[in-house]
Amino acid sequence: MIIPCILCEQTFAPTPIQAKKIRKHPHRIFLCPTCHERIGKKAEASPHPIQIKPTLPHL
Ligand SMILES: [Zn+2]
Repeated sequence: MIIPCILCEQTFAPTPIQAKKIRKHPHRIFLCPTCHERIGKKAEASPHPIQIKPTLPHL
């Protein structure tokens, strides 16, 4: 299974756990590992950290 990332629009293969979630909730949007890591680092560096959820609600 290959899914597109909403941020960089690159396709990536989800982990088996992600693939299961995508099959259950196909309307959900997923980030590739690179973007997920980048956002996580940004949140850590921020003086007011925002909570990052692994999945975003549909826009
Ligand atoms: Zn991405």
